[in-house]
Parts: sequence; C-alpha cells; structure tokens
Amino acid sequence: MLLQETQDSPEHARSYYAASANWQTDYPTLTEDIEAEVAIVGGGFSGVSTALELAERGYKVALVEARRVSWGASGRNGGQLIGGLGHNPDSFRRSIGADGVAEIHAMGRESVQIVTDRIAKYGIDCDLKWGYVEVALRPRHLRYYRQWARDDPKLVLLDRNELKQYVNSERYLGGYYKPDWAHLHPLNLCIGEARAAESLGAKIFEQSPVQRISYGENPAIHTDRGSVRARHVIVCGNAYLDKLVKHLDDRVLPATSCIVATEPLNDEQVAACLPADVCVCDTRTALDYYRLSADRRLLFGGLSNYSGLEPRNVEQIMRRKLTRVFPELAQVAIDYVWSGQMGISLRRMPQMGRLDGNVLYVSGYSGHGVAPTHVLGKTLAEAVAGDTRRFDYLAGIRHWVWPGGKLLRRPGMALGMMMYKLADLV
Ligand SMILES: Cc1cc2nc3c(=O)[nH]c(=O)nc-3n(C[C@H](O)[C@H](O)[C@H](O)COP(=O)(O)OP(=O)(O)OC[C@H]3O[C@@H](n4cnc5c(N)ncnc54)[C@H](O)[C@@H]3O)c2cc1C
Repeated sequence: MLLQETQDSPEHARSYYAASANWQTDYPTLTEDIEAEVAIVGGGFSGVSTALELAERGYKVALVEARRVSWGASGRNGGQLIGGLGHNPDSFRRSIGADGVAEIHAMGRESVQIVTDRIAKYGIDCDLKWGYVEVALRPRHLRYYRQWARDDPKLVLLDRNELKQYVNSERYLGGYYKPDWAHLHPLNLCIGEARAAESLGAKIFEQSPVQRISYGENPAIHTDRGSVRARHVIVCGNAYLDKLVKHLDDRVLPATSCIVATEPLNDEQVAACLPADVCVCDTRTALDYYRLSADRRLLFGGLSNYSGLEPRNVEQIMRRKLTRVFPELAQVAIDYVWSGQMGISLRRMPQMGRLDGNVLYVSGYSGHGVAPTHVLGKTLAEAVAGDTRRFDYLAGIRHWVWPGGKLLRRPGMALGMMMYKLADLV
C-alpha cells in the first residue's frame, strides 16, 4: 500500500462537513500582546468546550487556534456521540483506586448528556439523531456484548436477524442497540459552541499558530505576532500539536482515519443499508464506522493507520470496505474523501494533567472523543475554578511514552497496528 502525508491546508479539509457548515468562522488573527484569565491552545472540541465551560462560569478566556475552529479531528470525525471514557477504565484501579474508576465510568455516562444539553441550551443546529448500533464480526464480540448488557439496562442485544432492522448487511453475526447514544454534524456542533462561548465574552483567534509557551507564575502563549498572558494556560492541540510540548509529543501518537461521503441515497438504497438511521461501529481496533448524514449520504469511515500517513488510493480502498458491508451500494458515487488525525495514547485513555504550575493539558482520546472532550472540558474548567477532584483522578493515571523514539516510532506503530489487525481476525 503506497502511503503519503495527509494534505493539510490552513482552511478546512474538503469534507462533506466543510461543504455543509452552517457558516464559515472568520475570527481575527492574534496580533497583540493581551491578557486573560485563561489562555487556550487549540480550537477543537477540547479547547472550545473548555472555553465555553469557563465563559459560563464568568472567566475571561482567550482561545488561540492555528487554522480554523474545528479544523482538526473535531471537524472531520464520524460524528458518533458515544458514551464512555477511554478503554477499560477498570485497568487503572491500581493507580486511581476503586473511587477513581467509578468516577471515570460516571464521567463517561455524563459526557453524552453534556453535549445534548448544550445543543438544546444554545439552539445549535447540528443534525442530532439518536441511536447507536455496534456490530459483531467474531463470536467473541457477541460474548462482550452479553457481558456489557449485564451492567447497562439500556443496551438491547440483537441477533443476526434483529440486527437487519438497523443494519441491513449479511456481514455481521449480531450486535446491540443503544437508544441513548447518537450522531451529529461535528463541525456545526463545534462552531456553534464557539459562537456560544464568544457570546459570553470569550475571545477567539484563528490562523494563529502558538509557537512557544512560557511557563512560571504567569504563563503565556506566544504566536509570531502576539501573545496571551494568563493565570492558566490549557493545551488542547491533541494530535496536531506537533512538537510544542515534548511531554505530549512523546505520549500522543497521531494516527490517521479516513472517511468517504457518498452522493445522497434514495429510499431504496437507505432501506438496503441503514433503515433505522442509526450510527454504527464494529468491534475491531481498526474498525469500520458509518452513518447517514442529514441529506442521507452514507458517511463511511475506517482505514485507521498508526503510521500517521494515509494511502494514496483512499477512495478505492474505502469503496472496497463499504461494498463488503453493503454490496448493493457498489455503484454509488462518492462525492467527498477526507482524513484526519486522532491522538492515540498507548493505554487508550485520554491524558490530562499539569505540565508546570498552571499549564494544564488534555489529549490522546484514542479515536473516541466527541463526547469525552465535553466532560473533560468541564473537568478542566472545574480545576481552574479550584475543584480538582475529577482532574486529579485523570492526572493520577500514568501514561507511557510511545516506544521507538523519533526514528522508529512510525514503523514501530505500523507494526503494532498490524498486530491489532491480526488480533481482530482471530
Ligand atoms: C477521521 C476521524 C473520525 C473520528 N470519529 C469519531 C467518532 O465518530 N466519534 C468519536 O467520539 N470520536 C471520533 N474521532 C475522534 C475525535 O474526533 C477526537 O477525539 C476529538 O475531536 C479531539 O478533539 P480535540 O479538540 O482534542 O482535537 P482536535 O479536534 O484535533 O483539535 C486540535 C486543534 O488544535 C489546533 N492546534 C494544534 N497545535 C496548535 C498550536 N500550536 N497553536 C494553535 N492551535 C493548535 C489544531 O489546529 C486543531 O484545530 C474521530 C477522529 C478522526 C480523525
């Protein structure tokens, strides 16, 4: 498979989301030295939801984004609003205790509610639709679902035939349905939240890459034309942060995932794929995920690549994947193809902590961040306001450095991905 660097520009990727955005943000560039109570680096869900939480509490916030609000993963993702925080919180019992684990489970449940409350409160038009289905490719996936159903009264198990009311494919052994998880237009959610934060006094700057952070009692973030000095700095650049913070560069691996959007489907085609308009994931690490947009395009994602690169023939590969699930759609036209970078943590749990004094960070959602970014934005705002209880649990988790150093990390991780894919086959 021929790989290439993702083609990125200072404007949004040419995605279905950018083409159907409610408006194009046009915040000013930072050209002065200003002061705020909290300075935020990065305008994805992490940065914007933290800014909104803080603005709601009356803080003076300045958010500085390198390109456009929601330019990164937040404006390009599958739009699946799935609860839960990280992978297997119970495995962190030794470092954060049973109370910490219970709190992480509770935060995972709260995360979806924060988003839907916010959509209602600010009247954000982002095509929210309820219903999530997870589909099994292996008998062991069905065993996991039966286990999960014991702890979740809302989880409805589906056998092979029942599944077809939701996902009309011969490919799966069964699945489960969750009526309380949802899907939405992520770019419109994020710019809607930015507008809400702005209406409460937050200052937002675009096309202003932060080049340097100065630490100490009054930390500051610096672009090449201005700076924000503040009591707190919060770093939310995630997979796109590059080398700004070594601690995170060592621990957060950018991995690529790709999405195609078909032309709008007719009634017959919708019936042949997603008759109940739910969003869908399979249970592999390198999973397929898909859903219908508001104008009934099939948005089909996958092709996770831990090398951080994308194949040259994304459209062809994605069409093959889509056709394997829905052979009736083999001839449908593909209107948009794009990719984005997810920040992967080795232990697949978001990373939150304190770099130095009042410089905090959140990162590494490992491919599951639409809902988690919102509860972690709230947690960061609580910490700024002096309530560090939930922050301390997250900060108590030790995150490992990705092995291999600079030189070997990419090939090493590509190998790791291959191992995950082999495990998925078993
Ligand atoms: C293709 C794809 C599909 C996905 N699908 C789903 C899904 O369906 N459901 C789900 O829950 N999760 C999904 N995810 C994951 C989810 O999108 C992310 O976890 C989440 O959006 C992370 O938000 P963020 O704000 O932390 O990072 P980002 O959205 O990536 O935002 C980081 C921002 O920081 C800015 N930045 C970086 N460095 C600097 C700097 N030096 N100065 C200023 N700004 C800077 C970047 O320009 C960027 O805008 C998907 C991810 C991808 C890539």
